[in-house]
Amino acid sequence: MATNDTVRNYLAEAKKNLKNQPLRSYREGLYEHYRTVNNTLDTFFAQHKLLKDRVVFSKYNAIEKLEYYIRQFEFIFMRRGGKVLWANDVQEAQSQIVNILKSKGINRIATANSKTLDELQITRILPQNDISCLSTECNAFYQQQTKTPTHSAHYPILSTDFKAVATAVQKSMDLQDKDIAETIDGIKRYLLDQMNTIKASIVGANFLISDIGGIILCENQGNITMNIAFSDVLFVVCGIDKIVPKIDDLERYLTLLSAHTSGTMLPWQTHILTSPSREEKSDIPREIYVILLDNKRSEVMKHVKQRQILRCIRCGACAAVCPVYRHVGDEPYRSVYAGPIGAVVNPFMQNFENTVHQAYACTLCKQCTEVCPMNIPIHELILQNRQEAVKRECYVTFDRTQIRRLRKMMLARTAMDSTFNNFILRNNFKHLVGDQRVFPNIGQPSFSERYIEKYRLKSE
Ligand code: SF4
Repeated sequence: MATNDTVRNYLAEAKKNLKNQPLRSYREGLYEHYRTVNNTLDTFFAQHKLLKDRVVFSKYNAIEKLEYYIRQFEFIFMRRGGKVLWANDVQEAQSQIVNILKSKGINRIATANSKTLDELQITRILPQNDISCLSTECNAFYQQQTKTPTHSAHYPILSTDFKAVATAVQKSMDLQDKDIAETIDGIKRYLLDQMNTIKASIVGANFLISDIGGIILCENQGNITMNIAFSDVLFVVCGIDKIVPKIDDLERYLTLLSAHTSGTMLPWQTHILTSPSREEKSDIPREIYVILLDNKRSEVMKHVKQRQILRCIRCGACAAVCPVYRHVGDEPYRSVYAGPIGAVVNPFMQNFENTVHQAYACTLCKQCTEVCPMNIPIHELILQNRQEAVKRECYVTFDRTQIRRLRKMMLARTAMDSTFNNFILRNNFKHLVGDQRVFPNIGQPSFSERYIEKYRLKSE
């Protein structure tokens, strides 16, 4: 049963973020950006709909035959010397990484940012095992250096004032007397010096290509290039849903992902890794471990409708246009996945009873479904979760009693005809619509009075 606490926490975090005006303005900007990108897609691509349909068909096929395509990837990649490990959950993946690092005597590792790595909470777990992490991705680097929590999953650093970012980084790295160009040079030198001493890196994959046994890593910052080039051992963490059947489809996936993320034709840089290097000196790591993470994705697979969410390519468009997420941000979701995707997957990937309230933080405006390049009917999946919640009786106990009373009252004609009904409703059920909204008045005369009047019926 959804506890009062989880709902209360969600509301408290949401209220706090509602008052954060700079964050809200930033998200409004992001919203405008996505709307513009979305509106120009049809002119940008002559065959945008066809492109979407082909990618959706390919991914549908991949998810329906997931086991076959993953096994094919595993077989081909391992034949070329790569190593594939399966992890049922986050703890298994964490211990696999820690054990390998310890067995090789590695106590320092570089990390690039990704949602799957966030799922593993790798930058929290490794230091607990005496392995230090260097974040090479811009937002994570900023966060690590300044010990500042950031707000957005997509472009966190942009949610902070640029000058404040520069000053905080300069202060933390002892570069106060430098201008911006010198500060950037200082950061680059620092990262290169650090990477020269680091033997292992961990990154998240965008896709796994089944027919060539390939790993696809996309980036816009150049940090993944650095992670690959400097490391002897590379860990690639990947959800089992990231499989793509054929290399021929890749260009279409990349185009769609990039167009819906940043409005560009392709990501700035894409790496295709098909095997570890066999040479002593090479820009490719000599050992590559792919960790295939389930973490309840197979639980989502069991639900015929919700399974569609596994087509997601993490473009972030649905969150950017969501009117709820735009106002309340990531924090209330308390999960790696926030916004519309979070509302669909969190109940299955975490405790259903404690997270299903997120499905109610939705206006069902359908904007997420409209912008989704993978044709995922997100709002319908959110409704499915609500139905599931009703089946499992996941209400806060107090609300269940109140809703029953409200239903009883609204079905009683005499109660609704009473002159006090607005007063009674407002005083007893105001919390159901929240502080921000005005409880609607029941019209006077009531519907039943007007009905009787119109058809000259006798009141029962
Ligand atoms: S559900 Fe669709 S819009 Fe949302 S991130 Fe995934 S692919 Fe993008």
